[in-house]
Amino acid sequence: MTAPAPSSYLPGADGWVPAARRVPSPNYDARPDGMPVDLVVLHNISLPPGQFGSGDIEAFFQNRLDPGKHPFFATIHQVQVSAHFLVTRTGELVQFVPCTQRAWHAGQSDFFGRTRCNDFSIGIEIEGCDDLPFTKAQYDTVSALVPALMAAYPVRAIAGHSDIAPGRKTDPGPHFDWARFARQAGVAPGMLPYQCPGAAGHVTDS
Ligand SMILES: [Zn+2]
Repeated sequence: MTAPAPSSYLPGADGWVPAARRVPSPNYDARPDGMPVDLVVLHNISLPPGQFGSGDIEAFFQNRLDPGKHPFFATIHQVQVSAHFLVTRTGELVQFVPCTQRAWHAGQSDFFGRTRCNDFSIGIEIEGCDDLPFTKAQYDTVSALVPALMAAYPVRAIAGHSDIAPGRKTDPGPHFDWARFARQAGVAPGMLPYQCPGAAGHVTDS
């Protein structure tokens, strides 16, 4: 796969990223009026759990998961969720919801006292699980996408789902290498308030 040009990761005014393959999800709504998009949330997901490349993540986010395909699917197929992006194991970028809209990825969440993180965040699912390393292609794509999002929106921080929903969520999990990501993406440590809590620029929202 030829890597898309860096500029093609920049979202357009409509919130869609040219480098991404579009798989529109119906699971979104409007952000609150005037709400700045200032947080990026990183997740992991695999469907069926621990399996990759099945196409079931896309089906899940489009409300067409087959409940008969896997026992786990019968328990989640009516759950309506989404994320803005998915980065597959091969590094392919898929977009489900325009960044201008509110995707349903974070659930009950708290970013330094600010709840309802979906209101002000962009959600990136990285295909994977808590037990396995992510691929180089995934670091390449996430590291290209996040700076482009930072150029387009007033992003002040990047957090894991587990950071904003502790006790409830564990993703992106222990195998996500935050230091590697920060280095490759050119993200200052202060942008990772949960990973570098003593860093300069530490977010201190009341
Ligand atoms: Zn998550």
